Amino acid sequence: MENNSFAVIGLGRFGSSVTEHLHTMGYEVMAIDENEERVQENSSISTYAVQADTTDEDALREIGIRNFDVVVVAIGVDIQASILTTLILKELGVKRIVAKAQNQRHGQVLYKVGADKVVFPERDMGLRVAHNLVSQNVLDFVELAEDYSIAEVAASEKMQGKNLIELDIRARYGVNVMAIKSGNDFNIAPNPEDTVQEGDIFVVIGHNTDLKRFEEEI
Ligand code: ATP
Repeated sequence: MENNSFAVIGLGRFGSSVTEHLHTMGYEVMAIDENEERVQENSSISTYAVQADTTDEDALREIGIRNFDVVVVAIGVDIQASILTTLILKELGVKRIVAKAQNQRHGQVLYKVGADKVVFPERDMGLRVAHNLVSQNVLDFVELAEDYSIAEVAASEKMQGKNLIELDIRARYGVNVMAIKSGNDFNIAPNPEDTVQEGDIFVVIGHNTDLKRFEEEI
């Protein structure tokens, strides 16, 4: 199912960033905050920006919140407002609710009151930065399940000029190369005989322990 219209509630750094990116990608996005100044700041990076306290059910009804395909709850510090807003959205019949959590407990409650997906931006960014600190070759790291992840790893100098057969990554590390980024090219079916060039980036999937070994040794 394609989602075309979005509403973002809570225009802190995270909410504004989501709003701006959706808007840049050409989607309809309504930005909502109780703080008039935040609303003003977001007016040029959204389709419409409105002032409302989203813990007020009538205010949400008036906005027509049910008509959006996805509603993002990006209220952070005020955990009570974030939970109450999510609950009301669910009761109003919003199709898909994505909520930001401050911590694990907050996340559990958000799921319980009706969020379809909970995101933990600080935790996830911390994970990425930690991997990048351990090895500068690791450009990105996304957890898929508890023990499995996808990592973007820059090819090291010693890999250059070799092909995937010679590197034998799957047998040596137990991780799979899903794609290779080479400049603007994104090759999702890498040919085992292509040689690795300077600046190439591997997108690999695997168990966290195997990925760790791959990151450390390449
Ligand atoms: P970030 O880390 O993304 O900057 P944060 O986690 O610090 O954000 P806050 O700045 O506390 O989050 O909240 C984001 C926004 O949510 C604020 O602009 C605040 O005005 C708004 N907000 C809080 N409560 C409500 C509410 N009941 N209705 C609408 N907006 C609200």
